[in-house]
Amino acid sequence: MRMARPLHALPKAHLHLHFTGSMRHSTLIELAREQGLHLPDALEQDWPPKLRATDERGWFRFQRLYDIARSVLTKPEHVYRLVRETAEDEAAAGSGWLEIQVDPSGYAQRFGGLTATLELMLDAVEQAARHAGVGIATIVAANRTRHPLDANTLARLATQYTHKGVVGFGLSNDERRGQAREFERAFRIAKRGGLLAVPHGGELMGPRSVAQCVDDLGADRLGHGVRAAEDEWLMQRLAERQICCEVCPTSNVGLGVAESSELVPVRRLFEAGVPIALGADDPLLFGTRLLGQYELAREVYGFGDEEVAELARQSVRSSAAPESVRKELLKGVDDWLAASPE
Ligand SMILES: [Zn+2]
Repeated sequence: MRMARPLHALPKAHLHLHFTGSMRHSTLIELAREQGLHLPDALEQDWPPKLRATDERGWFRFQRLYDIARSVLTKPEHVYRLVRETAEDEAAAGSGWLEIQVDPSGYAQRFGGLTATLELMLDAVEQAARHAGVGIATIVAANRTRHPLDANTLARLATQYTHKGVVGFGLSNDERRGQAREFERAFRIAKRGGLLAVPHGGELMGPRSVAQCVDDLGADRLGHGVRAAEDEWLMQRLAERQICCEVCPTSNVGLGVAESSELVPVRRLFEAGVPIALGADDPLLFGTRLLGQYELAREVYGFGDEEVAELARQSVRSSAAPESVRKELLKGVDDWLAASPE
């Protein structure tokens, strides 16, 4: 048998993980029981659910499960617990830097408004990072299905918290609804405020949607972006400008974006020189965390240790981590490669 280095020991950065979606499944079950909330089968005995978001009904079902998961987080202590456990799981996966995506609007009513909710989340992040010894930054994400004016408000709010670890501004939810261009102003506010532009694109829609994220929103990275692989010229542009695709293979299969993991074009993007940061997106709904994505790289996409190490480097280089953290993580990657396989 060919020897291989342990993937959990490979230092890496995790750039695509949503707040609610990062909850441990066991925690969801526990909190639901505690509060006498009934969970649908898809979140209990039939977990992880098989979803099909390629049509609007499937996407609606995905969002509904997401909303149910969100409903168990009713107290600030739940928020602290979720982020603490997420940070522990990141540390166990060798992730030295996490950028977690939050949309405070989904919780604003419960936690006293947008600002109070964001502050609660940022405090939870700071504590969790210290507890687990993982660097964690926050990306504030707007919702594509809501009015662009809401996105402007969020962008303004996000820029006020750069000193508290907010590093980016995202755009999530159904890519088929709401043109990227409608959110141009929100992204301009965010970029002017020093935030990275990290919209979702090229997941449910093809290369055109990716190009719009780049041209209209000034994307520094793309949430997913996998469908850029359908367009040679677009991949070339992403490679030249070193615009990273946050590729989440398990999520792509879970949502039916790809029929099977073999069909997620990780290899194609990699060969084209497009920087990749593997991500778990919503482990709560897809059943696998960050390490599972690196295992797929090795086992399904045939990445050898040198190549897996390069994926890890790309995730670090595409992150907003401070120079000292980058240096340390990149050195850790070299050390990982230098050690002999077990
Ligand atoms: Zn996502």
